[in-house]
Amino acid sequence: GFLRDRTAGSDARRVLHDVFGHREFRGRQEEIVSHVVGGGSGLVLMPTGGGKSLCYQVPALVRPGLGVVVSPLIALMEDQVSALRQAGVAAAALHSELDDERRSAVMRDLGNGTLKLLYVSPERLNLESTLERLGRTDLALFAIDEAHCVSQWGHHFRPDYRSLDNLQRLFPDVPRVALTATADARTVEDIRERLGLTDDPVFRGGFDRPNIRIEAAPRDSARRQILQFAREASDGRGAGIVYCSTRKGSEQTAGWLRENGHDAISFHAGMDPADKRAAHNRFASGDAVVMAATVAFGMGIDRPDVRWVAHAALPASPESWYQEIGRAGRDGLPARSLLLHGAEDIVWARHRLEDSPASDEQKRIERERLNRMVAIAESPTCRRRILLRCFGEDLEQDCGNCDACLRPPSLRDGTVAAQKLLSAVVRTGSRFGLGHLVDVLRGEKTDKVIQFNHDQLPTFGVGKDVSAQNWRGIARQLVARGALDVAVENHGEYRPTEAARAILRGEEKVMIRVDVERVPSARNTRRR
Ligand code: ADP
Ligand code: ZN
Repeated sequence: GFLRDRTAGSDARRVLHDVFGHREFRGRQEEIVSHVVGGGSGLVLMPTGGGKSLCYQVPALVRPGLGVVVSPLIALMEDQVSALRQAGVAAAALHSELDDERRSAVMRDLGNGTLKLLYVSPERLNLESTLERLGRTDLALFAIDEAHCVSQWGHHFRPDYRSLDNLQRLFPDVPRVALTATADARTVEDIRERLGLTDDPVFRGGFDRPNIRIEAAPRDSARRQILQFAREASDGRGAGIVYCSTRKGSEQTAGWLRENGHDAISFHAGMDPADKRAAHNRFASGDAVVMAATVAFGMGIDRPDVRWVAHAALPASPESWYQEIGRAGRDGLPARSLLLHGAEDIVWARHRLEDSPASDEQKRIERERLNRMVAIAESPTCRRRILLRCFGEDLEQDCGNCDACLRPPSLRDGTVAAQKLLSAVVRTGSRFGLGHLVDVLRGEKTDKVIQFNHDQLPTFGVGKDVSAQNWRGIARQLVARGALDVAVENHGEYRPTEAARAILRGEEKVMIRVDVERVPSARNTRRR
């Protein structure tokens, strides 16, 4: 009834304020909290840093009984538990790394009914003894964090999560709230089916992080571009992250960052656990520390003042890119992200995908994700709008805080240039890399050009008027739209595809963005 809802609402606000110290709910938190307080189940899709924890912590404290939180990561569980305890909440964790003594203390508290929140790893939850104990406990709710782990469609499938489909059967009257930052449609449906949430609402929101400026640029020198970006984006205290595509790349990047005066460290999956922990600690506490890492660096980063995130190469999907840049600016203050990309990134990713052991269906999904990522990188219009559309969120207007909004690129009809490039590829026998093709187009009489008689071709010198850099840009855009392929196994030779024919025949127009040559300084962009 009305009165009960009012009470529930004010209870929730009081908990929000008294326990967590926040004055207002954010985004859809309030709506979600009151749904769960009222006994409802559902799926919450919110990005990293969006404030998912409160969506189950507040209802667990408002409702009578114990809130059980399933979480895959021990470090994360321990962080949450110690924060909750500091706030005066009776919270505990149950996982495989507890010694016997601590485990029986937790079980005892559980028996006493003194706990309000229990974090548990899925394999612990699945134990007969745990389930039996919970069966005798008054339960407020189940929260399933990182819920995408139940889905085989995502990259994070965990067999342990599979048995969570039992919860609905074993505890039909206890609300289940699943939470994830992955919003990919296929994964979402999979989660709902697995966890028995198909009749319950999906709360999607908060994906926009307007304080993070989004910039993307073609890579010409990652080192120079990232050093300049780090200089502009750093405030001298907050941290920065450079995501690299290989382990070796992350170590090298940390190396040249240090040579250039940065306090830089690296992180990747190949390091031993002690080094990983040390890197995590350095990152958590250092002033202006820069982490050069592979995507293995991610879970458990809770530093609110990451001021910038740079990608040295194209990420595999908008989802992973979004999650990675989302580690910046959790304090709500201005933060920046820079995406560097080149034609070879796309080609590499496509080849890796084709060679992977994944099923055809999975490959199709991954190919689609990659294409959307390429579309964002190459877009001449607001990048945030395209990004948010990937998550099912529509912006009313352009964001005003991405490079396409701040410095709209000029577009020109590049059909003729594209035809010249494609015909240079065809006439040289589809056997050469881009450097040579650009030499032919620009009429450079290099040894190689002479050796192959390419100065005799009709295409020789037809592209003098276009700079080598712009030719590379045109090539990248043709790769992006699938008109050119590059053989990675050979020396990066360019080959026309089926799609090139329509362009060569003049049936398809090619609009080309005239790329900005460098990332302008922060001061310049602010003035505009
Ligand atoms: P997620 O789990 O979605 O990644 P968290 O729950 O860890 O996000 O929240 C991210 C940050 O936002 C935390 O520092 C948290 O304290 C803060 N936060 C969440 N909700 C609010 C709110 N309503 N008011 C102020 N800060 C909030
Ligand atoms: Zn924009």
